[in-house]
Amino acid sequence: MTFPYRIGLGYDVHRLVPGRPLVLGGISIPSPVGLDGHSDADVLVHALGDALLGAANLGDLGSHFPDSDPQYKGLSSLRLLENIYALVRKKGFALGNLDVTVVAQAPKLAPYRTHMQAVLASALHASQDQISIKATTTEGLGFAGRREGIAAYAVALLFKTDEFPESFQ
Ligand code: MG
Repeated sequence: MTFPYRIGLGYDVHRLVPGRPLVLGGISIPSPVGLDGHSDADVLVHALGDALLGAANLGDLGSHFPDSDPQYKGLSSLRLLENIYALVRKKGFALGNLDVTVVAQAPKLAPYRTHMQAVLASALHASQDQISIKATTTEGLGFAGRREGIAAYAVALLFKTDEFPESFQ
């Protein structure tokens, strides 16, 4: 019998630059600097997406959504996450839980956590209790500490299921 649980790891980094909106966890956060990238550069969602893909052994974000492809320019990463989860469901897995740590010197993310959980839960047809969002600084050390960029680490647990809701067919 195949083991019914699958774990995946995701990691991503984006550079902070002036003149870009800061989009994290699917929501816009007031900030003088934002994350640079081809899409909305939502580093949290990218790490979650890679964790889901890894758990289902479906490759990585870059292979599914290459940043050389103009159709993904400026795209909300939530749409990528929805597409990824549809692939996961088609392979016969469903979400157990997600846990993410965002590494950023600023801004403080605690005031936005509940809103992010709600937005991500909606994109993944999940409950907020399945999505944990944590944040840490690096005490001023490294690129995150110098506010040059934000990193995110995520793990996903999937389980095998025979249920295929209408929306994923
Ligand atoms: Mg990325």
